[in-house]
Amino acid sequence: NNEGTDTEKKVLNVGTEATFPPFEFMDKGEVTGFDVDLLNAVAEEAGYEVKIDNTGWDAMFAGLQSEQLDLGMAGITITDERIESYDFSDPYFESKTMVVFKEGVTIEKADDLKGKKLGVQNGTTGQFAAEAVVGQNSPDISKYETAALMFQALQSDNVEAVVTDIAVALEYQKNNPDSGLKTMSDDEEFQSEYYGIAFPKGSELTEEFDAALDTVLDNGTYAEIYQKWFGE
Ligand code: GLN
Repeated sequence: NNEGTDTEKKVLNVGTEATFPPFEFMDKGEVTGFDVDLLNAVAEEAGYEVKIDNTGWDAMFAGLQSEQLDLGMAGITITDERIESYDFSDPYFESKTMVVFKEGVTIEKADDLKGKKLGVQNGTTGQFAAEAVVGQNSPDISKYETAALMFQALQSDNVEAVVTDIAVALEYQKNNPDSGLKTMSDDEEFQSEYYGIAFPKGSELTEEFDAALDTVLDNGTYAEIYQKWFGE
């Protein structure tokens, strides 16, 4: 513990997938977004510095497994499966599945995904939600490495709809006002999910970050960051 000394703060290596605005995206060569601001605030409160690398989604999880990364912050949903392999902070953001599609396509409920060409980001809850409706290994589901590639497939009509997280869907729709994009979130089919910071199993950071997250929630910092990215 470095408290009371002049020693430099420990720098934590962070992995992310930075095509996921407003949570993490590249701006002038830097990773920025809601998650970045929140992570910086929480890490500072816990007494650490962070070095955030745009590792990509799969490499982020691999880096946590091998403990080359200290944590992952990428709008990562806390799922029962992931809890088996990683430790998670307390939840910091509520999300749910949303479908994005172009005008002329009719999707009013989850069941309407059947028979449509769907795009998802590989290994995400969007993929799992799509599979729950149209079946695992369905040839109608195309999987993309990044959220950006998934949205490109929609724009170039390689798929008819993409299945992703609500705040990312709405941000994309807002940033592409000329694309005539529509959204659908089926309240009966799609459950609430919660984002957490992911750590290697057994990491001592989990507790320290939970305590710091509590402080950042209580002292108004979280609300400020939320307002910056989601306020009107
Ligand atoms: N929240 C989703 C998941 O954890 C998607 C995250 C992402 O694409 N960055 O699977």
